[in-house]
Amino acid sequence: MAPSDPVIILGAGVTALTLAHQLLFPPSAPPNTTQTHHRPILILASTIPTSPHSTIPPSYASLWAGAHYRPIPASTPQLAFERELALRTHASMLQLASTYPETVSGIARIPAEEYLETDPDAATLALRTGDVYAGPGDDFHVLTADDLATLNAASSPRAEPVRWGCTYNTYCVNPALYLPFLIQRIQARGARIVQAHVDSFAHAVELARGLGFLPSHPGEGREAAAAAAGGGAPTIVDATGTGLLPDPVCRVIRGQTVLVKQQFPKTVTRQCRDGSWSFLIPRPGGGGTIVGGTKEIGDHEALPRRKTREGLLGRARAWFLGEFVGRDGELDVVGDIVGFRPWREGGVRLEAELTEVVMVKDVSSSSSSSDSSQKGQGVADTETVRVVYGYGLGGRGYELSWGVAERLVELVDGRASGGQEYKRAIKARL
Ligand SMILES: Cc1cc2nc3c(=O)[nH]c(=O)nc-3n(C[C@H](O)[C@H](O)[C@H](O)COP(=O)(O)OP(=O)(O)OC[C@H]3O[C@@H](n4cnc5c(N)ncnc54)[C@H](O)[C@@H]3O)c2cc1C
Repeated sequence: MAPSDPVIILGAGVTALTLAHQLLFPPSAPPNTTQTHHRPILILASTIPTSPHSTIPPSYASLWAGAHYRPIPASTPQLAFERELALRTHASMLQLASTYPETVSGIARIPAEEYLETDPDAATLALRTGDVYAGPGDDFHVLTADDLATLNAASSPRAEPVRWGCTYNTYCVNPALYLPFLIQRIQARGARIVQAHVDSFAHAVELARGLGFLPSHPGEGREAAAAAAGGGAPTIVDATGTGLLPDPVCRVIRGQTVLVKQQFPKTVTRQCRDGSWSFLIPRPGGGGTIVGGTKEIGDHEALPRRKTREGLLGRARAWFLGEFVGRDGELDVVGDIVGFRPWREGGVRLEAELTEVVMVKDVSSSSSSSDSSQKGQGVADTETVRVVYGYGLGGRGYELSWGVAERLVELVDGRASGGQEYKRAIKARL
């Protein structure tokens, strides 16, 4: 595909917007380039983050994320692949954070702490102070036995002891600032964003034609033959979270959190003995702190559960009392959050294919049609489109976003075909 060919992106979550940014600000372009012609990009999405937040459903995961970066050691080939994506993303996020104030980009470099009440796995146990954990220069420290003893002695006697812990530097993202920041940048380079629910890839092509983004008639003769062979066929990227077409291995993982006004200076994660998680994720730019959170597979409850909220706040009080909530235990609650992580069991889908779509043409106004029985009816015609899939990021959509966008650009440009090598499971993560 030529770098100037148009691309239709379905979805306006972090995956879609990062891809659009990567296409419009190619890293190979010299800095301060004066290029005025950019690749035409049309984004079609049912939900866009610049709508009033009260109208944005839990299925638009990107607005409801924490969002912090908590690394996972590369203990399997799949996790090694994710680590590559995470390290690429770490570099891009830090680059943005050093270029723009956090009140603009919504990104900030922030200290992190992790605590495990469970026994660490072998890969975690193998980590040593000075290792690269989140990325180069992260000042990674494993807590010593003395550190753990001091920590546990200071906790409530009823609390489960912490068995392993670490500190390092990471970044946090405030989606309410970051998503509009990406939108503003891609729109400045000509990306069009249209709010529309899309039913099928044929529908996407139809909408793009109606908007004048694609020519109203597909090419004929040699052009049509080339399109059928994949050259010149419209490219559609499916970044709809769980996939446009039914995907039997996609499910949502419900996450409920609470946004509080207090601005915590670091992100803390505690993996509890009973399998639950407790965490604080500050939202840069004065956005308060997320107190979380749940991971409920296949749970589509859109409303917050009061009992869950009380549990989350209760644990934050128990573990972070004094340091965060103040001696009086007061938390200034802004509101409950419910989001559905778009999870694809067995792997994020990163691949490309040519597919035939059925377009229905209205022939009622066609002067070339001599068959009066067709007047006012539609006739079916097939067309070839290139579909690039980029969905199923589960709980890691932010921390893998720039790495994923790089892979998607390769697929869009036809520099990679995707397939098995990119099909990796992205675990449910907060
Ligand atoms: C509580 C919670 C905490 C999280 N914390 C973190 C974290 O700390 N770090 C991290 O990295 N990740 C975190 N995540 C995960 C992260 O939010 C997701 O992985 C990420 O947002 C997925 O982005 P996406 O763009 O792929 O999908 P989405 O954000 O879900 O966007 C999908 C887009 O597709 C559109 N769409 C869907 N169907 C159609 C259709 N038929 N027609 C047109 N448009 C359509 C939607 O309207 C939307 O614009 C968290 C998620 C939750 C819920």
